[in-house]
Amino acid sequence: MLIVPTQQMKNLNEENDVIQAHKYSSNHKSFIIKDKQCGCFYCLKIFSPTEVSSWIEDAHDGTALCPYCEIDSIISESSGFPITLDFLKKM
Ligand SMILES: [Zn+2]
Repeated sequence: MLIVPTQQMKNLNEENDVIQAHKYSSNHKSFIIKDKQCGCFYCLKIFSPTEVSSWIEDAHDGTALCPYCEIDSIISESSGFPITLDFLKKM
């Protein structure tokens, strides 16, 4: 049996969360526009998706660009992750 110290396990889980969450930062237009809140993990702003005015459109979907820093680092509620300053900082 493999014994992993609790602290180490917690860090691993958090890392996985961050990797998962990053997947939701692109090709998300179809669901981000239905959300009430999204956040940018580059400049750490939390705002409404209606504030997004620039999108990178591709064949599958669109990727939001942050209205504050113009970086494609936006994640929204639909990802299932908390849109909080704490979480954005971990990204
Ligand atoms: Zn930003």
